[in-house]
Amino acid sequence: MGTIFHQASWVIKKILKATKYVEHIGLREADLVTWEQFSIKAIYMKLSGEFQRVPWRRLVCNNGGAPRWLFILFLAIWGKILTRDRLPKRGCTENTSCALCDDSKESCGHLFFTCSFSVQVWNKLLLWQGIPRTALNWQ
Ligand SMILES: [Zn+2]
Repeated sequence: MGTIFHQASWVIKKILKATKYVEHIGLREADLVTWEQFSIKAIYMKLSGEFQRVPWRRLVCNNGGAPRWLFILFLAIWGKILTRDRLPKRGCTENTSCALCDDSKESCGHLFFTCSFSVQVWNKLLLWQGIPRTALNWQ
C-alpha cells in the first residue's frame, strides 16, 4: 500500500514538473486538453525554439561518417580546430607554419584544402571517385 502511494506521488510530481515546462512555452493545460492529438514533436519543437537553418546542415546531419570525423567537421565549420595559427593565443607554441609543407601559416583552410600536400590528396581522392574537378578551398 505504501509503495502504490509512493508511486502515485512520484507520478504527480512528474506531472506538476512537466506542467512547468508546458507553461514555459506559452501553453496552458486547457490548451493541451483541446488538442485532438497530443504531439510530443510539437512540444519538443516549441521547447527547442526557432532556429535558422544553416547551409551546412546536410554535411553533418544524417552523415554516415565515423563520429570522430563528424566531430572534426563540426569543429572546422565553427572555426574551432586548434591549428597552429590559433595555438600561440593559448601559449602552446610560437611556430605557426604548416606541419605538412612547412611553407605557409597553418590554418584550417590551408591544412585541409590549400596545402600542397592536401591538394595532392584531394586530387587523388577526386580522381579515384570519378569526380572531374580539382581540389577547392574551404569556402
Ligand atoms: Zn601546408
